[in-house]
Amino acid sequence: MIFISIAHSSKACGAVNTELDVVEYKVSCIASESCFNMMKGNGIQCAMIDIGYVGDSEYSEKKTKIINEIMPDLALEIHCNSSPDKNAHYGECLYHFDCRASKKAADYVMNTIGDGIAKSLNPLIYENRGSQPNSPDYPLFFLDKTKCPAIIVEGFFISNNEHAQWLKNGGAEAYGTLVGEGLVKWFNERHN
Ligand SMILES: [Zn+2]
Repeated sequence: MIFISIAHSSKACGAVNTELDVVEYKVSCIASESCFNMMKGNGIQCAMIDIGYVGDSEYSEKKTKIINEIMPDLALEIHCNSSPDKNAHYGECLYHFDCRASKKAADYVMNTIGDGIAKSLNPLIYENRGSQPNSPDYPLFFLDKTKCPAIIVEGFFISNNEHAQWLKNGGAEAYGTLVGEGLVKWFNERHN
């Protein structure tokens, strides 16, 4: 079973591109839903949670507690990256440095996003950085506290106007579909 945790919350909504009015939490809602539909349509059992109107000091703890009770094959969050450098335009998928299953899932996700961008999403400026381990010196709650394989997808930059405009014009849905496609490949290879 694959478990999607919608990134951030309606109260603490993550990064915002104020110029284009694109909000990370909203992008994650759309992308998570299309990811869910892609996986479900391919026969994968999946679940999704939106933690509700909860601040960022509580939501991480609440979500990881639920995930650890369910213990899925994989837990993921679909985020948008943000940087003061508005030209930053890469995508990556973070995994726990000590988890091979997570790395494999992250590889599939980024390969599929990379292929999708190259085939149909041009002329979006994009650098694919692939799967990246989180640094032991920089703990990430979602990766460190979940007891199952887990990944954080940071596929696009909400602070980059070109990425944000694309996300706003249907890209958020395409983003989730590509993540789902990658995970279908990962899941089938793993279970067949
Ligand atoms: Zn985020």
